[in-house]
Amino acid sequence: RPNYTILEVQELDVNYGGIQALKKINLIIQKGEVVTLIGANGAGKTTTLRAISKVVNSKSGVILYNGHNITRRQTHEVVQLGIAHCPEGRRVLARQTVFDNLLLGAYIRSNQAEIKADIQRQFELFPRLSQRRNQLAGTLSGGEQQMLAIARAVMSKPQLLLLDEPSLGLAPAIVREIFSIIENLRATGVTILLVEQNANLALQIADRGYVLEAGSITLTGVASELISDERVKKAYLG
Ligand code: ATP
Repeated sequence: RPNYTILEVQELDVNYGGIQALKKINLIIQKGEVVTLIGANGAGKTTTLRAISKVVNSKSGVILYNGHNITRRQTHEVVQLGIAHCPEGRRVLARQTVFDNLLLGAYIRSNQAEIKADIQRQFELFPRLSQRRNQLAGTLSGGEQQMLAIARAVMSKPQLLLLDEPSLGLAPAIVREIFSIIENLRATGVTILLVEQNANLALQIADRGYVLEAGSITLTGVASELISDERVKKAYLG
């Protein structure tokens, strides 16, 4: 893997009113890596993803992406630059079909032939979605909606995919399916920042991890080391 930094977050502070959600966090992601953020409820994992995709503004600190300072950019600009955010709770458009949700994921692109070909590629990757292409997204099962949310994010052709809780509320067999899809995405060269409650699963797929506690990064390392770290075991691996 070439040693090329795709994302660098420096001393990032995010506040919600009086609440300090992130306190001077630093993180680095190399191109092609899968990096996971681990932490308890409310630790700031979702906020980290939102700050990178510019859904929330940071108070101070710097976010560098692919040579661009994106600290003060807007969401549509970072999508153009190649960052896709697959939010927690899936958020597919319930009253639109599977096909139209995928089309919407490509809203920043203009080459219709390429978009159609990419939708076809998503249907090959996600046969369940292919069978349901004309079904309203709101009538899909939870696992299918998660697949659609990931496929839709991929339709913007991201270089960096921010994935929030892809396994939340899903049956183990579906979780395995979702994680094998994440592996496939990695194999196509997409860099992934993964937030997961299921730290065990996340560390199995990730190259490296960061532990967030009450808005601060308290531990970082290679996934295989974190998985056998006593502190991580005790707090997150049950
Ligand atoms: P979870 O796993 O429960 O989603 P998390 O690690 O993703 O947790 P965040 O959602 O980033 O945590 O929340 C970090 C802190 O910021 C929490 O204390 C939360 O209550 C607070 N917070 C998050 N969003 C808002 C908001 N829109 N307004 C006010 N406070 C918020």
